[in-house]
Amino acid sequence: MGKQDDNGEEGRDVQLARLVLSLRAQGVSDPAVLAALESTPRELFTPDLFKERAFEDSALPIACGQTISQPFIVGLMSQALQVEPRSRVLEIGTGSGYQTTILSKISRLVYTVERYRTLLGEAEARFKQLGLTNIITRFGDGGLGWPEQAPFDRILVTAAAPDEPKALLSQLKPSGILVAPVGKGPVQRLIRYLGDGAGGFRAEHMTDVRFVPLLDGVAKEP
Ligand code: SAH
Repeated sequence: MGKQDDNGEEGRDVQLARLVLSLRAQGVSDPAVLAALESTPRELFTPDLFKERAFEDSALPIACGQTISQPFIVGLMSQALQVEPRSRVLEIGTGSGYQTTILSKISRLVYTVERYRTLLGEAEARFKQLGLTNIITRFGDGGLGWPEQAPFDRILVTAAAPDEPKALLSQLKPSGILVAPVGKGPVQRLIRYLGDGAGGFRAEHMTDVRFVPLLDGVAKEP
């Protein structure tokens, strides 16, 4: 826990700065990604019960049995995507909207798809509160991508695809980059697919990760 001043404000800023320093020490070095992490209030994306833990480098539970990703993994994936300021990015699995927010700060336009209406609604409220105007949301099955808006410069999948995400790869520009956790078990391989400019891909195994699964269809909610 960070140092606290009288109103607790410094404590929060110190905690966030410490988190960003630790991500940097773990290899997140892209200045744009670091600036995005530093300027994003993660406490806005965590449930009340976990607000005090918002600046820990860990995944936390959110509504609908899902999770907000670990900040290090968000930094790692955002950096691996090699987003450029002009990039149009597709994200699958909006969840809390935290990763979406980081992407929105380093790219031109972010399209994000979520299969829980509740989560999407909460994330949209956060984007509005933060004044983010370059995020386009969709309630649907992200496994199918967003054909009407394809092709994308970058695609980030934040739920574990059982196998190579072929439908999504087909919506990537020829020299685009797609990052996704791939695997059927509790631990998956984080893979970066780099388009070769001629319709093929080179797949790089980056590290092992634990994501909730990419599920078919939209969620039925009460
Ligand atoms: N990027 C999120 C991580 C959320 S966890 C964050 O930073 O908070 C993964 C999310 O993927 C969950 O919200 C889950 O509902 C969603 N998801 C799983 N399968 C999906 C699918 N087929 N289409 C869209 N979203 C999906």
